[in-house]
Amino acid sequence: MDYFWLLLFPMHLDQKVSLKPFHTFGMEVQARYFVEPHTREEILTLLNYRSMIRMPFLILGCGSNILFTKNFNGLVIRINSKGIEYKEQDDGTVKVTAEAGENWDEFVQYCVAQGWAGLENLSLIPGTVGAAPVQDIGAYGVEVKDLVESVHFVEIDTGIERRFNREQCCFGYRDSIFKNSLKGKVIILDVTFHLHKALPGGISGTYSLKLDYGQIREELRLKNIGHPGMAEVREAVCSIRRRKLPDPVEIGNAGSFFKNPLVQNERKDHLLELYPMMPWYPEQKDKQQPGEDTENKGRVKVPAAWLIEQCGWKGYRDGDAGVHPHQSLVLVNYGNATGMQILDLMNRIISSVYSRFGITLEPEVNIL
Ligand SMILES: Cc1cc2nc3c(=O)[nH]c(=O)nc-3n(C[C@H](O)[C@H](O)[C@H](O)COP(=O)(O)OP(=O)(O)OC[C@H]3O[C@@H](n4cnc5c(N)ncnc54)[C@H](O)[C@@H]3O)c2cc1C
Repeated sequence: MDYFWLLLFPMHLDQKVSLKPFHTFGMEVQARYFVEPHTREEILTLLNYRSMIRMPFLILGCGSNILFTKNFNGLVIRINSKGIEYKEQDDGTVKVTAEAGENWDEFVQYCVAQGWAGLENLSLIPGTVGAAPVQDIGAYGVEVKDLVESVHFVEIDTGIERRFNREQCCFGYRDSIFKNSLKGKVIILDVTFHLHKALPGGISGTYSLKLDYGQIREELRLKNIGHPGMAEVREAVCSIRRRKLPDPVEIGNAGSFFKNPLVQNERKDHLLELYPMMPWYPEQKDKQQPGEDTENKGRVKVPAAWLIEQCGWKGYRDGDAGVHPHQSLVLVNYGNATGMQILDLMNRIISSVYSRFGITLEPEVNIL
């Protein structure tokens, strides 16, 4: 016991804890102290001791968006608070509040089973509810910001609780205020979503299922589903994801390692002269509309996966650090790679993409 606060601390606290089971890259790293609050009351109690605990805090969910490059010399707070509440609205919609420690995919499954539409395209994304707004998780044409009503959080230093509406969260592509000015300063306690109820005549309001992204329609066609409901869409998304993405239980990874870069129109035109096959999409969309004119509209997205593949990294392996053979956006730990080896690989990829295309890739993953 090297600190007085340890004597007073009201919760079970472990020291020198291996974080290997608590993050999806699976590196052997240690936390100096580790605590796992199971209720929001425990989270708030813990913050009463903040002024005494003079070391960094790390708020951890499932660790599916983190690369540890070294041991964490501070207190890891693994959020494990559970609970779901809902209130039906007169207009046929429903407001659902989930505690931060709820598992994201189990929450999506619960909503689909209740007949509440909106989250089905975000099925099978690893992680917790509390982390979902942090990087505005997105997949198959849906971003969580489309469904978030409000985010309730507590400030770590003052213990003051606040609730931000969607606008206050400053959501952007894999971005939010929680990744910027509030990074490391708050703990998200719960998130409220505004979902649409399935009624006998269809889904409430103007909501319609989103089937036009990725291979959803194709998957439904293969399953002979002509008129899908949200459960079939969830199942289709799960099947596609299981085929396309490496399971972190088998190969350590954190999903897409890089964001798709935003490129100025002039740069895109210049690159298209050199690489006519280069794919690109309007900034706000996941998919280019054929013939769509983006002149004078500023920026376009270029798929980072294509840039990385063009530089010959797909399937590359150096020891146990590598680039997945089928998904060039996914960096993988085949077993005993260290965080520094993955970081080194990341830097080599960034510099080779920059040398060839003049585009700087940014990591989506939090590097610690
Ligand atoms: C196989 C795989 C596929 C993936 N696919 C997708 C995808 O399709 N789309 C997508 O957007 N992402 C995807 N991801 C990334 C990841 O699933 C998400 O970013 C997820 O939201 C991370 O949740 P987590 O609980 O694991 O957060 P962690 O990795 O534990 O934490 C991520 C960040 O959020 C902070 N944080 C966590 N909880 C809280 C809280 N309660 N309060 C405040 N801050 C908090 C942490 O401090 C950290 O900065 C994928 C990852 C993997 C491994």
